[in-house]
Amino acid sequence: MARARHAEEVPLPRRLVSVLIVLAAIAALPATAAALPFVAVDPGHGGGDTGAVGVLPAGTQTGMTPRSDSRGRTVIYESDVNLDISFRLDAYLRARGARTILTRTQDLAGGDRPYTTAGADLRARVQIANEAGAELFVSVHNNALNSTASGTEAFHYYYSSPAARVLATEVQREMVRALGLPDRGVKTAGFYVLRYTVMPAVLVEGAFLSNPSEALLLADPAVRQRIADAIGRGVERFAARDVRTPPRLPPTIGPWRTKPRTVPVGYRLVKTGRSNPVGRGGWLAVISTFRQVRATRPATIGPWRTKPRTVPAGYRLVKTGRANPVGKGGWLAVAGA
Ligand SMILES: [Zn+2]
Repeated sequence: MARARHAEEVPLPRRLVSVLIVLAAIAALPATAAALPFVAVDPGHGGGDTGAVGVLPAGTQTGMTPRSDSRGRTVIYESDVNLDISFRLDAYLRARGARTILTRTQDLAGGDRPYTTAGADLRARVQIANEAGAELFVSVHNNALNSTASGTEAFHYYYSSPAARVLATEVQREMVRALGLPDRGVKTAGFYVLRYTVMPAVLVEGAFLSNPSEALLLADPAVRQRIADAIGRGVERFAARDVRTPPRLPPTIGPWRTKPRTVPVGYRLVKTGRSNPVGRGGWLAVISTFRQVRATRPATIGPWRTKPRTVPAGYRLVKTGRANPVGKGGWLAVAGA
């Protein structure tokens, strides 16, 4: 009320200017109010399949079910972390008006069924998303390799549509920004949930449970919230880009040992082989709008003080110096022949 009275005292021209400023501000609002897609959120593992197991300092509180191993050490299960992040992501998306579906809501396998086999678990997850008509699929995982492996990565299917690549890129960018861990890049893989879902799909690996310092990060509910918010922002950014989504068909069919005479409308044949990791040694039908992409590689690697003996395929060595401002006084590998 006090504000309204104050406004009446302002001379008309100034009030008019204020109104115009407000109108201009409304018109300049970004189009991020674009409706969010219907998202299937897939908490990886569960129901006895723990996924990666991280070791924590004795007695570390995680805000989740306390876990210990047979030697009595305090540990943290990837399956628990993934479910916790997925609940937070689900809440983030629903708070912004998105429809969502979770492929599990308890410490059980896909479809909240007891774990029997990996195949049944993964099939249930894909079936839930496909039958519900979800428009995006986000599989939440965390990583394991060795105690020094570090960082964040995101995967999409080898034969991904442009939409899946954009989704993975946006989610990866937000996660790296939020966690500040090394950017391991957007990669391609043939994971079952990426291959058989019929909507753009991403599988995220937030951090490494095999690395004690990253396991400790994931033990912190605030960090898990940051990951969920980052994935959510990635989905929002994807939605704002209005990328055309592929037809709702399986991304690939086959493979066949011998070349089939025909493939269904909307598919094209590719020969499997070294550059085609799915179904080696035969033929595969790929949705015609799908294009195989190589994993994103950094533009440069190095620099090194001394000349390395070899560099990865696809890179060439350049001597750093005045004409090369990156890594002065050594050697740098640059992508490209
Ligand atoms: Zn996993």
